[in-house]
Amino acid sequence: MPIDATLPYDDSNIFARILRGEIPAKTVYEDEHAFAFHDIQPQAPTHILVIPRGPYASWDDFSAKASEAEIAGFVRAVGKVARDHGLVEPGYRLLANTGGHGGQEVPHLHVHLFGGKALGPMLAR
Ligand code: AMP
Repeated sequence: MPIDATLPYDDSNIFARILRGEIPAKTVYEDEHAFAFHDIQPQAPTHILVIPRGPYASWDDFSAKASEAEIAGFVRAVGKVARDHGLVEPGYRLLANTGGHGGQEVPHLHVHLFGGKALGPMLAR
């Protein structure tokens, strides 16, 4: 069920619980601002989620409220994870589902990083 993007941050969401170490994740990278782990239901040979450590429900929330340091740190982390997984030369796709029409299911900002094969058209036709 897609989230209502107008609701305040809910710190019981599953990615907040992963950040607190309450449930496991297959971590691939972490630093002061970002945490990255394999998606539990991969939709490509490489399917990694990168999330900010801060309590931001969506891309909208993050882009409006995060500090310059958080935004820079998060963007740098996404790029580093892609480079570290050898995705730059073959290419990759980033996706941040946002709110109802975006199909966002988990109310903590996450960027999907897909790669490892040619990914085809951007949207299903
Ligand atoms: P979205 O539809 O953009 O909100 O995507 C949520 C993503 O989170 C989906 O691709 C799920 O497979 C993934 N997901 C849900 N729970 C977990 C979990 N515990 N560990 C890793 N990925 C998860």
